[in-house]
Order: sequence, then structure tokens, then C-alpha cells
Amino acid sequence: MLLALSRLFLWLDPCPAATTGPSCLEAAFDMSSSPSGSDRRGAGQPPSGFSTLAVHAGERRQKQADAITDAIYCSSTFTFPSTQSVIDYIEQKQPREEYGRYGNPSERVVEAKLAALEGGEAALLYASGMAAIVGLLMTKLNSGDEVVFFNECYHRSREFCAKHMSRFGVVTHQVPACDYEAMDAAINSRTKLLVSESPTNPHLSVVDLERFVALGKKHGVETLIDATLATPYNLRPLAAGVDYVLHSATKYLGGHNDLLAGVLVGRTEALEPVRKLRGIMGAISAPHNIYLLGRGLKTFELRMQRHNENGLAVAQFLASHPRVEKVLYPGLPSHPYHEVARRTMRGFGGLVTFLLKDQDWRKAAAVVDAVRIPRIGPSLGGVESLIEQPLVMSYFECTPEDRRRFGIPDNMIRLACGIENAEDLIADLNQALSA
Ligand code: PLP
Repeated sequence: MLLALSRLFLWLDPCPAATTGPSCLEAAFDMSSSPSGSDRRGAGQPPSGFSTLAVHAGERRQKQADAITDAIYCSSTFTFPSTQSVIDYIEQKQPREEYGRYGNPSERVVEAKLAALEGGEAALLYASGMAAIVGLLMTKLNSGDEVVFFNECYHRSREFCAKHMSRFGVVTHQVPACDYEAMDAAINSRTKLLVSESPTNPHLSVVDLERFVALGKKHGVETLIDATLATPYNLRPLAAGVDYVLHSATKYLGGHNDLLAGVLVGRTEALEPVRKLRGIMGAISAPHNIYLLGRGLKTFELRMQRHNENGLAVAQFLASHPRVEKVLYPGLPSHPYHEVARRTMRGFGGLVTFLLKDQDWRKAAAVVDAVRIPRIGPSLGGVESLIEQPLVMSYFECTPEDRRRFGIPDNMIRLACGIENAEDLIADLNQALSA
């Protein structure tokens, strides 16, 4: 028993000597779930519990000043004790930091934690989710290349590719979400990347990862899943064979509506050129932000369990309410992708979309205005519930025809359940629907 415990702590402590030198930092880098990494340390199988990883992965056991929390390194540059140490660093004999745009110790800790949670080799943190996808697209696509999106993917990602990558000769195709035949037909010899979100927002369509990955393999094309709504707790895209996973860490990963961040997870080698371009772009997260993200991650599993419970309870309540025409939630058997979701997801998240029987958009607005707990606002995944009417929040300037095309009816409401008590959220919705 004692031996087992000491092994657990050995694995959790890549730096037992309590130094702050570069070799110690280097050890923290491979604090992922990599079995070869743990074997090297002779510590046996690493612990794999989700919260154990969320709390400890990536962190040195003994930290600066013996603090239990990680320091925030507000340092734009990192100094060298001698010219020889500069040369050692350039010749990669001594891994360490050099300049803030290329890396920061706090960033490395949280990246290692995120890689461990996602079951990936490496993670790259960015200033926002959009910065992360821009970083990947800019690295992987050249003039003449093509990319195929499922059309329910986050609209700014599609917009960036269609409006801006096109200026550099990249061609974007958009096909209906989860239409694998249409995606297959859109792929040609110039196609370099297949992109989807899963589940999608606000329709919550769930991609069958097996079919998506099979398309990539059939054509020799890399795949990217934006799993922001699912999180690594509910969905494992890398285990299904997807090449890159993207998260807007602004949402569930940060979890407190107090930061913007993005992360890409994948193979170290594949992400290396992306890391290099990030160092040039400078779309990095600030040290204080990174600290908040690492802090939020400690309670990630607990929060996700509550988001999942609240999402399901609220969806079931709404489905039985006489004023509600339809509820879009992958955890409900009535959802068109329920079977795929049940097969591939651990839970279904906190986002619930519903349509009122009243078709007038003002009636939906009155419900949004009548709730007392969720605040009106965009975003999701934080501890505080948020509510919005997609027509008003994101599609107000579109024509009715465009809204029809995007599948955004006037009577649609999107509720991002936080971690409040489900009974209170339900009572609040009940009074708002009765108002
Ligand atoms: N992906 C999804 C699914 C999103 O919902 C968002 C933002 O709402 C993004 C990416 C972009 O993330 P960020 O706002 O952190 O740039």
C-alpha cells in the first residue's frame, strides 16, 4: 500500500529535487498520460482519473517558494547567466525559456495539463479559440489548398477561412452538417483539411467521429474537431483518430466567464510548425489568464458533471412544457443525433436549445427577459447560466431568408446552463414561460 502511494506521488512529481532549473521544467513538459514517459521515470502506470489529472498533471510537486500553487511568471523575457548558456540553449542542450512570445513556464504547465486531459501528446495555448484555429489554418494551408467544413461549424471559423484565407488562394467548401456523402464529394486532390464542430451550436448536431475520421483516412486528409461544446470530459476525438482538437477554453475549460483562451491538441510533431508560427504571430495568452485557466481546470470534472446534469434536467423539463414546441439536446431520445451522442459521448453538456410554440420573435424575447437566474449574453460553459435568442444575439442583421438557411427560427432560445441547482433553473424557466 505504502509502496503504491509513493509510486503515485513519484509519478506526480517530475521534479523531486525541488529545483527550479530547466531540467525540472523539461520534466514537467511530459507530464502527459504518455506511458513511455512514465516508464522512463520508473514509476509504473500513471494515475488516469480525470480529476487527478486535472488537479496535478503538468505541475511540479515542489514549486517555487514551496507554494502549493503555480507562480504567475509576468516576465516578457528570460535572462541567461552567461554567453555559454545562450549557446547551450540555441544548441538545444538546455531547454528553458527565452522570450515571452515563444513560451512561459505557466503556459507550459497548463499546456501539459490540457494535453493530459485530452489524451494528446502536445497542447498549444492561444489568446482565444479564434486565435487557435487561425494559427492552425495559417500553418497547414497553402495557396491552392482546399478545406471542407460542415456548415454548422462556428461561424467565425468558417468566415475566417472563406473571407480571409481565400485572399491567400485557399478554397473553402461548406457542406451540410453530418452529411458524410456531401463531404466525400467535396474532397479532391487539393483538399488538406476537414473541419467540424461537435456538438454544433446552437443545433447540437453530433458528428459520428468514426465516419468523419474514415473520410480523412480514405483521402489522406487531416481532420480537425472543434470540441468546445463537448470538452475532453464528454468527447474523445483524438482516441477516435482525429488529428487535431480545438477548444475555445473561454468556455467550459476556463469555466468561470472570466477569461479568453484557446487550445489546440494533437501530435507533437504535427503541432511543432503551428507552435513556431504562434511564436511569430504572438497570439499568446497572458500569464495571469493562464493562471486563471489552470485554476479553473482543477474543478473541471466536478463542473462538467453538474453542467451535464443541469443540461439534461432542464431539457427534460422543457420537453414536457406545453409552451415548448421542440427541444434540441443530444441527451434526449427525440434528438436526431441522440444515438450517435449516446454511443460516443459521456455526457451531453449544459447547452439546451428550444423552440417556443409561439412563432412571434417578441414572445421568445419576453421569455428571455423574464428569467431571473440566467443573464442575457453570448458564450457558454461558465458557472453562471446565460440565455439568448440567436435571432437577436447573432443573426439580427441577417435577412429572414438567410436565417432560414442557417436554421435560426424566430422562436429559438439558447440556454447555457451553469452550475446553479437544477431545481432553481427549472422553477425560474417555469415562471418565465408562465409570464
Ligand atoms: N469555437 C466555438 C464552438 C465557439 O463557440 C467559439 C466562441 O464562441 C469559438 C470557437 C471561438 O472562441 P473564442 O471566443 O475563445 O475566440
